[in-house]
Amino acid sequence: MRLNGKVALVTGGLSGIGGAIAERFGAEGARVIAADIAAPAGAVDPSTDVAPLRLDVSDSAMVEAAVAEVLGKYRRIDCLVHAAGIGRDIPFLETGIDEFDRIIAVNLRGTFLVGQACARAMRDQGGGSIVNIASVSGMRGNVGRSAYGASKGGVVILSQVMAVDLAAYGIRVNVIAPGPVDTPLVARMHSSAIRERWTDHTPLGRYAQPEEIAGAAVYLCSDDASYATGIVLPVDGGFSGSGLTALAD
Ligand code: NAD
Repeated sequence: MRLNGKVALVTGGLSGIGGAIAERFGAEGARVIAADIAAPAGAVDPSTDVAPLRLDVSDSAMVEAAVAEVLGKYRRIDCLVHAAGIGRDIPFLETGIDEFDRIIAVNLRGTFLVGQACARAMRDQGGGSIVNIASVSGMRGNVGRSAYGASKGGVVILSQVMAVDLAAYGIRVNVIAPGPVDTPLVARMHSSAIRERWTDHTPLGRYAQPEEIAGAAVYLCSDDASYATGIVLPVDGGFSGSGLTALAD
């Protein structure tokens, strides 16, 4: 029960990595709000361990309303895990501006909007912890990821600036940079050929399960991480730390 009594807002909390984090945070004693564009419309129900709340993180009015709704029902937000995100592998020369803008709007603008609204509440209550989910594609140039990689690289530096700007208010801001994780997003993004390449370039030789990312989020939101801020933590099976992963036969 490392998050006992904490109120945690998890965006993208109805699927994949966010879904696993919402479930694990509930098991660690947190009261969880799973804010997701796929949630049914309607008021949040604080009597549920993991309460769905409809939210498009790229819509500033919706973000303000969602945070006000959570504060009205729960009185505080101790943890924000921002896992809502979209992506697609597209060659740079074929990336359309509308698709580029939408990926940036959800992944980067969404991180700014939700982070700012929650940080204001955290400042007023005397502190909190924010964890943004970036990607190894925000740290390295991975094929076909101009929009996605730019959005995630933006999430990394935005989070580091937030860590500096918000430190005085007792708000810690950290980043998890996952490698390939078996989720519905990846099922849509990765062909079997791409899947084979990611597996070959990952020293642990497999994709992660979403639950394997959740433990890092628990640590970063718990009091065990009270001196940790501005961290970019790869949870990637060794991908970002490696070069050649096999000798020729
Ligand atoms: P997923 O598609 O399984 O889950 C994403 C969730 O975000 C969904 O429930 C979706 O409804 C929600 N969402 C999408 N757009 C939204 C919006 N505008 N507002 C609110 N909610 C929205 O994907 P996932 O793989 O679990 O990805 C979660 C995060 O992890 C994303 O930020 C993704 O970029 C990142 N990530 C994933 C991987 C991976 O391999 N799966 C690797 C690195 C980083």
